Amino acid sequence: TVRLEDVTVQFGQTVALEGLDLTVAAGETVALLGPSGSGKSTALKAVAGFVRPSRGRVWLGGRDVTGVPPARRGIGVVVQQYALFPHLRVADNVAFGLKAARKPKAEVARRVAEMLEMVGMAKFARRYPRELSGGQQQRVAIARALAIQPPVLLLDEPLAALDAQLRADLLGELQKLRREVPDVAIIYVTHDQSEALALADRIAVMRDARLVDIAPAADLYATPPTAFTASFLGGAN
Ligand code: ATP
Ligand code: MG
Repeated sequence: TVRLEDVTVQFGQTVALEGLDLTVAAGETVALLGPSGSGKSTALKAVAGFVRPSRGRVWLGGRDVTGVPPARRGIGVVVQQYALFPHLRVADNVAFGLKAARKPKAEVARRVAEMLEMVGMAKFARRYPRELSGGQQQRVAIARALAIQPPVLLLDEPLAALDAQLRADLLGELQKLRREVPDVAIIYVTHDQSEALALADRIAVMRDARLVDIAPAADLYATPPTAFTASFLGGAN
């Protein structure tokens, strides 16, 4: 379970996130939708530990992790800029978290191969990130995040830079992951409503650093609680 409790994040004068209360249960996927600049990525970064809230607390599985560094939160993260370790080959990027967790060598090798196969990057195992296209790097970032089978998975527009075929394939893989790893809590930021509908149990709509609505996807579309959500979901976002 992930819980954000009254989380506010400020960058200088900018309030990027204002008093966010959000709980995502084990086994649940919540999609964050909202206009550009509404605070979606900031919310994810607060959970991952990349930004420090100026107010509020972050809980993971009942533990207050507000001051805990990102590497010690045990979370799988795909951020918008898919930051891979530049000095590590593709396979070593994917293996990183497994090695850190001291998994046996054979298991690491098997898992890395499996993940690279899943994202269609098996052929690129020995390349460095700089030798890959943006979309290929993003696929490696997804493989790395999933490799550790984290209890919490944070995905920030993970399919945005990919072509339609790959998007459909990886969306299918994410749905499969949800079935096969039933306890994972996922927060999924996207601009693509069809992705949100395909994956999310609940959809949260953000506007100007605040959460405006959160409800099961079907309810949100059937009876949007606010005019903003109605026009946002109805528009070409
Ligand atoms: P997008 O859909 O474009 O990715 P978003 O909803 O993810 O947008 P955020 O990245 O969370 O938006 O940004 C929220 C607000 O905080 C924006 O006004 C942004 O300019 C500001 N912001 C984000 N990161 C920083 C930073 N490091 N320094 C200053 N301002 C920031
Ligand atoms: Mg963003």
